[in-house]
Amino acid sequence: MEGTGEDLGTFDPNIPEERPSAPPPGWLEDIHGYQGHKGGDGTPLYPPPPAYNPQPEQNRNTVVPDVRVPSVSEDEARDALLKFVESKWRYSAKPARNLTFKELRPATVYRYRLETFTETRTSGWHFEPYNNQLVDGPQYGVSPLPWDIPVVLPPRFTDQVQKIRVPHSSVMKPCHVCCGIGRTRCSACFGRGQKRCTFCHGHGRSRNKRCTSCQGRGHRRCLSCHGHGHKTCKVCHGVGNLLHFIQLTVTWTNNVAVFIPDRQPDFPDEKFQQVSGDAFFVDESVLVYPIQGFPDQEICDVSTRLINEHLNRFSSTSRILQQRQTIELVPLTHAHYAYNGKDYSFFIYGTENKVFTVKYPSSCCVL
Ligand SMILES: [Zn+2]
Ligand SMILES: [Zn+2]
Ligand SMILES: [Zn+2]
Repeated sequence: MEGTGEDLGTFDPNIPEERPSAPPPGWLEDIHGYQGHKGGDGTPLYPPPPAYNPQPEQNRNTVVPDVRVPSVSEDEARDALLKFVESKWRYSAKPARNLTFKELRPATVYRYRLETFTETRTSGWHFEPYNNQLVDGPQYGVSPLPWDIPVVLPPRFTDQVQKIRVPHSSVMKPCHVCCGIGRTRCSACFGRGQKRCTFCHGHGRSRNKRCTSCQGRGHRRCLSCHGHGHKTCKVCHGVGNLLHFIQLTVTWTNNVAVFIPDRQPDFPDEKFQQVSGDAFFVDESVLVYPIQGFPDQEICDVSTRLINEHLNRFSSTSRILQQRQTIELVPLTHAHYAYNGKDYSFFIYGTENKVFTVKYPSSCCVL
C-alpha cells in the first residue's frame, strides 16, 4: 500500500475553525441610547420621546359639506353595458343594443379612508471588513440619540426605508471568526488539505489494481480548499480586522384603513376596490379628528373608531407624521331592463362606469 487515509497533510493548530459570523455576546460595548442590541435591524427604538408625537386636542370634530348623489343616463348605462359585453366573448352585443330600460336606481355609496403616515426607527450592530477607512468612534464625540439623528423625509404617504450609520459608533476590532489571521481552517478536510480517496477507501488499490482515481496514493487533494487546508475568512474577506458600527433603520409607512358600509346585498363589496370614486372630502393634517354631523352616521362612527385605533396603535411604536381622511362617493347604479319579454338587471359602478351582472340574456333566445 502506498498510503492510508490517516497520515494526510499537515495540520496547523493556529488557524481557527470556520464559525458562525455573528460576534459573541459582550464583544462590543453598549453605546448610550442603543443598549441591548443583538445585531441585525431587529431592535426597535420605541416609543419615540413624547415630544416627538403630536397630542390630540380633546372633543374636537370635523364637519363635512353636503354632496349630491351622482346618476347615470340611459345612454351611459347602455354604453357601459356594451363595453362590458364586448370584453366577454360568450356574450352578444345584440341584447345590450335592443334592451328597454325600466329603471335606473342610483345608490349612495360612501367610501371612508384613513391614512396615517408613520416613522419607525430600529437599530442594530453591523460590521464590514476593515480596509483602512476612517473609524468614526467615540473619540469624535457622543453618538446622537436614535430619535435625534436627522433624516431626509420622503414624500408624504409613501413607504420608504433609509439606513444610516450612527455617528461616532464605529469601532475597529480583530475579526472574531479568524482571530485576525484572515484565514479559517477548512472544515471539509479538517485542515489537512487532502481527503481520503472515496473510490478505494484509502487503500490505494481496488480489485487488486492500482486505484486510478488517486493514482494509488489513497488520498486526493481537498477540492474545498484546493489543498491548502485553510480558506480565506468569509467574514473579514482575509483582511483580519472588522469595522463595527450601529446602523439605524428608519422606516416610513403609510397605514391605510378603508371602510364601505355594506348596504347592497346583491352587489359584491370587493368590486369597489377596483374602482375610484369622487373624493369630495379630503382632510389632511398632523392629526385628523372624527367626522361629525355627516348624513351617514355609520361614516361618523367609523371615522371615530379608526382615528382612535390608529392613534393608539401607532403612537406607542412610531412617530405619527401626518394623517389624511377622505370620503369618496363611489357611483353605483342598479339598472333594471327588459329583453325579449324577460326582466334583467345589472350594476354600473365606479367613476370608470364598470359593469357587474349575474345574468345576461343570450342573443339566440327563441321567442
Ligand atoms: Zn483511490
Ligand atoms: Zn480542505
Ligand atoms: Zn476574519
